[in-house]
Amino acid sequence: MNFHVITLFPEICQAYTDASVLGRAQKTDKGRGAKSRGKKMTVHYYNPRDFSKNKHRKIDDRPYGGGPGMVMQAEPILKAWEKAVGKKQDQKKIKTLIMSPRGKQFDQKLAKQYAKKYDHLVLISGRYEGIDARVKKALKADEVSVGDYVLTGGELPALTIIDAVAREIPGVLGETDSLEDRRVTSGETYTRPETIEYKRKKYTVPKVFTSGHHANIEKKRGSK
Ligand code: SAH
Repeated sequence: MNFHVITLFPEICQAYTDASVLGRAQKTDKGRGAKSRGKKMTVHYYNPRDFSKNKHRKIDDRPYGGGPGMVMQAEPILKAWEKAVGKKQDQKKIKTLIMSPRGKQFDQKLAKQYAKKYDHLVLISGRYEGIDARVKKALKADEVSVGDYVLTGGELPALTIIDAVAREIPGVLGETDSLEDRRVTSGETYTRPETIEYKRKKYTVPKVFTSGHHANIEKKRGSK
């Protein structure tokens, strides 16, 4: 899977995608023998400002019809998209998503679907009052929302989607990751020590977890 993020803040996003599990998935792991793994994904960033015709790298303008705030212009975003996937042959394997609080609600089912169906996922992050509506039409993009609230930008939504989709790519949660990690939810979980003291009160791990009785543990966890 190749992720392409169109954002005014590539550095912020990259710090996240280079860390931990997502960072590892972008590297070839030269483990021994059968454990050696290839890259599972790539993440590329494109800043619309690099595609602005304006000498001050301006990429926003006032909305037609009036109203508050500024709107991200279509052309720098379309050029960024061209750079990302414009030359790719198999357009069927490319999906373009525009981050929008009014979009279709992103969920685990969509994460699975994206991971399975596409080779390229282009995520367009908005800022200000949003993105010129012609981007959606020109790129036949889908608008997606990560939840029923409004954020200041599409960066966290784009990262959220990358993170959830990456977990669905075979091998991203590798051998070293626990089964718990691979599940959708693992419910209640505890680690050492068995008893902790906080503000003079003791908190002990429920007995069933230290019983070694796996069926009971699963029941207690209520995992899916
Ligand atoms: N008045 C605008 C709000 C823009 S918020 C509107 O109604 O669309 C600025 C940007 O943040 C949006 O363009 C979008 O890319 C992103 N954003 C904010 N909340 C979001 C959410 N819940 N899901 C996905 N993207 C969101």
